[in-house]
Amino acid sequence: MLRTDILIIGAGAVGTALARELSKFKVKVLVCDKNDDVGGDASKSCSGLTSTSATMPVGTLECKIRTISHTMVDVLCRDLDIPIIHCGSIAPVLTDDQMAQVPKLLDRAWQNGVWDYEFLPREEILEMEPTLNPEIKGGIYSPRDSQINQFLMVVAEAENAAENGVEFMLDCEVTGIETEDGRIRRVITTKGEIEAGWVVNAAGLHCDEIAKMVGECDFTVHPRKGEFYVLGHDTPVKVKHIISSVPTPKTRGVLVIPTTDDNLIVGPTADDVEDKTDRKTTRDGLEEVRTKALEMVPGLCFGDTITQFVGARPARVPEGYNILVSEKAKGYVGISGIRSTGLTASMALAKYIVHEMQGAGLALERKVGWIRTRRGIVKFAGKSDAEKDALIAQNPLYGKIVCRCEQVTEAEIVQAIRRPVGARTLDAVKRRVRAGMGRCQSGFCGPQVIAIIARELGVSEYDVRKRGVAAYMLDRGGK
Ligand SMILES: Cc1cc2nc3c(=O)[nH]c(=O)nc-3n(C[C@H](O)[C@H](O)[C@H](O)COP(=O)(O)OP(=O)(O)OC[C@H]3O[C@@H](n4cnc5c(N)ncnc54)[C@H](O)[C@@H]3O)c2cc1C
Repeated sequence: MLRTDILIIGAGAVGTALARELSKFKVKVLVCDKNDDVGGDASKSCSGLTSTSATMPVGTLECKIRTISHTMVDVLCRDLDIPIIHCGSIAPVLTDDQMAQVPKLLDRAWQNGVWDYEFLPREEILEMEPTLNPEIKGGIYSPRDSQINQFLMVVAEAENAAENGVEFMLDCEVTGIETEDGRIRRVITTKGEIEAGWVVNAAGLHCDEIAKMVGECDFTVHPRKGEFYVLGHDTPVKVKHIISSVPTPKTRGVLVIPTTDDNLIVGPTADDVEDKTDRKTTRDGLEEVRTKALEMVPGLCFGDTITQFVGARPARVPEGYNILVSEKAKGYVGISGIRSTGLTASMALAKYIVHEMQGAGLALERKVGWIRTRRGIVKFAGKSDAEKDALIAQNPLYGKIVCRCEQVTEAEIVQAIRRPVGARTLDAVKRRVRAGMGRCQSGFCGPQVIAIIARELGVSEYDVRKRGVAAYMLDRGGK
């Protein structure tokens, strides 16, 4: 039987940030996830904003943790080579009703210590962002909101944690937890039993199911679905800032987001649904996004859409961040309520959880020689001819373009597979190096990526999956 000091269930933004934090200490840490890759569920399909706490409920744990975490983002990006753009956000005010909300929003931001959240007059806002609807009455400018590459953030934290000794078990679903004399003993998974001193439930949307396994579930979690469009690089109307609807207590509303890879993401909706597996876009949801986005940025070209996707926020009832260090099942730590803010909050949340675990008796001794930094895979796209020549001289596979849309080379794909916690599926390659992210959505490069994955992993091409348990790319045709 596998044995570990700490088992983290869930390799999303929260689980991997915690794994990295714990990798600073002399403890054995194992992260398991039911998915085939790190990146989580909500984490990989969110808006990717790292924002201030301007719109947070005042005085809550969520607000406090997010405020601290937001100040830690730049150091994380520097240390782990994570792409981020510091573009700031603008919420254009279009109606009298929205105008009436402005003083309340500014007051809340003030109480949350976000003192650079300001209402600016129409002319100033239009000068900053000329693509906005000229009918606006003004706008709320939040200069410290940024867009981070959410896929690479989680991958980078996982790679760095792995380099520091954390182990990852993927395609590994937790199905039960056994306790003995009021203490956690064993965790039952689809890959066998694991004996663990501590179990941290970072299972996002499914954290209630894990909590029930130890009898510590006095809440429910349901998906709050968000639908998005992705527009291609060449769309003629782009924005320089994150354009956000005037926020409501439930959501920041529809956003138009410039990404670190020069796409535009437009969305999300915020619809409470029951089915945790529902990732279907809907005609109504997409129409709502389109209408609201066009009210703010009338020139957006939805004809340049290359794909649409859905993310599911883990909405807790009752709501709010909740970190439970169990008395009933000693060694169990439950994390719940990390709904729309968890990407930004994950760094400080990880430190808070470690602190709580220490308070409950976890003895932690710091390691000497902890590796703080990690470098990302060098991209071929966007380099000068001289830089491209130098890359090819270093590694001839940089001379072989596999994904034409995004100009991704075989060298990058091979590195994505060979790195610690490397890619095993088409989607995992796509998230790391963008092969298949472009207009043709892997129509051209898909077969080549399958062949490279098969070669690198020493498996048959028939065994290569898009993602998930049984999503094989090739049909054996009865063979
Ligand atoms: C539409 C949308 C927009 C958002 N926008 C933002 C934003 O702009 N900024 C921001 O900061 N936050 C945003 N968020 C919120 C943010 O994405 C989440 O708060 C954060 O990603 C939660 O991370 P997590 O690790 O808790 O959950 P997840 O990323 O969902 O990870 C949980 C992991 O647990 C695994 N798991 C579940 N059950 C089991 C099991 N039984 N066994 C093994 N593994 C299991 C899952 O496979 C998954 O990988 C948004 C979310 C959505 C959906």
